[in-house]
Amino acid sequence: MLKDRIDQVEERIGRAVLRAGRKRSEITLLAVTKKFPGSVIREAYELGLREFGENYVQEFDEKSGGLGPLPGARFHLIGHLQSNKAARAAELFQTIQTVDSARLARRLEQAGRRLDVLIEVKLSPEESKSGAAPEEIPALADAVRALPNLSLLGLMTMPPWSDNPEETRPYFRRLKQVAVQCRLAQLSMGMSHDLEAAIEEGATIIRVGTALFGPRVKA
Ligand SMILES: *Cc1c(COP(=O)(O)O)cnc(C)c1O
Repeated sequence: MLKDRIDQVEERIGRAVLRAGRKRSEITLLAVTKKFPGSVIREAYELGLREFGENYVQEFDEKSGGLGPLPGARFHLIGHLQSNKAARAAELFQTIQTVDSARLARRLEQAGRRLDVLIEVKLSPEESKSGAAPEEIPALADAVRALPNLSLLGLMTMPPWSDNPEETRPYFRRLKQVAVQCRLAQLSMGMSHDLEAAIEEGATIIRVGTALFGPRVKA
């Protein structure tokens, strides 16, 4: 079952990449396993997935203990990170995609581990969304680049929800512009329902949950 869903997602990626004149190897499929047990991570790993996204430090802390060794697996934090959880996040994750302030970046630096990071950009005025404003990104990028433990790879965004990918496409385009302006290569954008539009607009990391694992149980 999971094998079939992975194949379906790979087919969608393959078609989008062709349309966009890009290469499959330019795109990382990040399997979003929030709200699923560690056994699902292991199953996905055994089917060849290596990059995993989790939203909550505490949830992943609880399930990672029982995972056992997964050589080559990499875990990305894609949910909002509070400063007081930065030290633990630096131990659990290899990539933090949701850096949104210089203060949080300094906390991660102080954890003393090498980390890949992306800056989360907030492109819409919705109250509930986290991320730094586009105007703040150049200065924040410079601040992060000055921290020796952190490697700044790119930008991440979560556009306002719409089931129509054409409505999220302008946000993907905007993220790409900000990344070009800041000379950043990685763009984390696109989810289960709009990964094609994201790939067409330059995504290098797509974050896919539902299309791989089915619907999540609501908390
Ligand atoms: C849950 C989540 C995803 C995955 O969403 P799906 O629609 O299930 O693919 C991607 N990115 C973030 C930040 C998320 O919280």
